[in-house]
Amino acid sequence: MASQEIENLASALARLPGLGPRSARRAVLWLVKHRETALDQVIEALGAVRDKLVECHTCGNVDTRNPCSICADSKRDQKSICVVEDVADLWALDRARLFTGRYHVLGGKLSALDGVRPEDLAIDHLLGRVEQGGVDEVVLAMNATLEGQTTAHYIAERLDQFPVRITQLAHGLPVGGELDYLDEGTLAQALRARRPLS
Ligand SMILES: [Zn+2]
Repeated sequence: MASQEIENLASALARLPGLGPRSARRAVLWLVKHRETALDQVIEALGAVRDKLVECHTCGNVDTRNPCSICADSKRDQKSICVVEDVADLWALDRARLFTGRYHVLGGKLSALDGVRPEDLAIDHLLGRVEQGGVDEVVLAMNATLEGQTTAHYIAERLDQFPVRITQLAHGLPVGGELDYLDEGTLAQALRARRPLS
């Protein structure tokens, strides 16, 4: 039996995505063992983030500054905006370091089931950014789900009034994926998005 304080820490950590109660207890044990080195570092990092975390007013990214580091980076391409559902998607795409433009976080996806309407998402804000001018391309990087694609189509329709190129991420074979193991939806998408080899 651990003390109440240790139990509290374990149950707080257990709420983190990817950590269940068991992994949380292991993390606590590790922190206790390394309290001299790692524990202070974690506390310090958490404190710094808690004090400084803000939402970027331009793109909706979460950072310690507003505008965020991406929006404030003058080396990034001002002409293209990549639209994502959530901050996690932005971070995932940016980790890949392939997209050099800026982002726009919608804050979710359209969903009749969950009652999410266009006005609940940052769609008007996106239109405002495009309307300001200087944007050539809008990349719709929604998830390959029914709701994600409905959202992408809706946004494409709303953007139709502006002279911008609207593109979408290709759907298809995952890198290292074997045809044998793929579901029919993924295979159909890959076949539809086929392109010449040379
Ligand atoms: Zn930003």
